[in-house]
Amino acid sequence: MGAMIPYVTDTPDIAIPASLLPADGRFGSGPSKVRPASVEALGAAATTYLGTSHRQKTVKSVVGSLRAGLTELFSLPEGYEVLLGNGGTTCFWDAATFGLIERRSQHLSFGEFSSKFAKAAKDAPHLDDPSVITAEPGTHPTAVADPDVDLYALTHNETSTGVMMEITRPDGAVPPAEGGGLVAVDATSGAGGLRVDPAAFDAYYFAPQKCFGSDGGLWVSLLSPAAVERIEQIHASGRWTPAFLDLHIALENSRLDQTYNTPALATIFLFDDQVRWFNENGGLEFSAGRCDRSAEILYAWADASPFATPFVAKEEERSRVVGTIDFADEVNAATVAAVLRRNGIVDTEPYRKLGRNQLRIAMFPAVDPDDVAALCACINHVVGALAS
Ligand SMILES: *Cc1c(COP(=O)(O)O)cnc(C)c1O
Repeated sequence: MGAMIPYVTDTPDIAIPASLLPADGRFGSGPSKVRPASVEALGAAATTYLGTSHRQKTVKSVVGSLRAGLTELFSLPEGYEVLLGNGGTTCFWDAATFGLIERRSQHLSFGEFSSKFAKAAKDAPHLDDPSVITAEPGTHPTAVADPDVDLYALTHNETSTGVMMEITRPDGAVPPAEGGGLVAVDATSGAGGLRVDPAAFDAYYFAPQKCFGSDGGLWVSLLSPAAVERIEQIHASGRWTPAFLDLHIALENSRLDQTYNTPALATIFLFDDQVRWFNENGGLEFSAGRCDRSAEILYAWADASPFATPFVAKEEERSRVVGTIDFADEVNAATVAAVLRRNGIVDTEPYRKLGRNQLRIAMFPAVDPDDVAALCACINHVVGALAS
């Protein structure tokens, strides 16, 4: 962990010229930029969709469209299912400790989010203590085939540090069809912005407030047949599970294009609109391609900058959806973030608990790569003005 970041009391009065400003100033890592076109579409459905029953066809058809759209976006093979429920990713971790982990899990822990699922599994009284493989923030560990675990917990993109990892089954692991462990991936900030091969996972779960440009509060999990079988097995074993966290109940409801209890209809609508936008423009290649372009711009700028450096040392681990940029000691990143905020460019502050002199910049598909370029120019302007 780096030195404490001084608390900024007075934000310098620096006005960024309008010609430099991005068209949209939202660079937060979640909740993140929602496309105005999605909000307009929601407005158009104000009297026919919003405020109507989630058990009737109007809403169920949007849930159905969302499930079909995700199947298309991720090219899910036959037999894979799209589950959804209320409570966001944090809720899904608890649900997984009941419904996906049979006895013991292995976790790759390399930041705030990945450590939380490991803790949930450790705290669950009905599970054995998990195997936790850690790595320093700014890197990621590697999963190790282990016959004593029945679920490998990976994270596609560690949002707190800006580290991404390629999703593969652990080297030498027995496939789930032959009794090996399931691969469960927290893809909350990676899904929709990073490429993934569905053959490499059994549960790929996320929430819609990041790459899917919607609001929070919902979880989605893409499940392989082996994961569906695990849910059914645990259900049949009679393990007590709170209904709200019961993946078997979620499975039954999802198949009917509904959630166990009332969902936020606006969240589902915006989510579906974003998935349609991806699919209509070329699918995951389109959405991940936008993130690639933004990331190239951001890291090329940092590499060339006299005061900025990518925090993540290994190029292949540098996230294409959430960039973390360290600043030289003589530039106070918190002051830069505060000046940007004053100029309408928001949420570039770093993950608080990481405690580094850095900015964190989301490059989710909704963010225009041209706006990332504009942001870099704005940072140059602010740093120049602070030095003079
Ligand atoms: C944002 C995030 C979460 C938490 O999601 P909630 O929907 O707020 O529970 C979990 N994991 C990762 C990787 C995230 O980026």
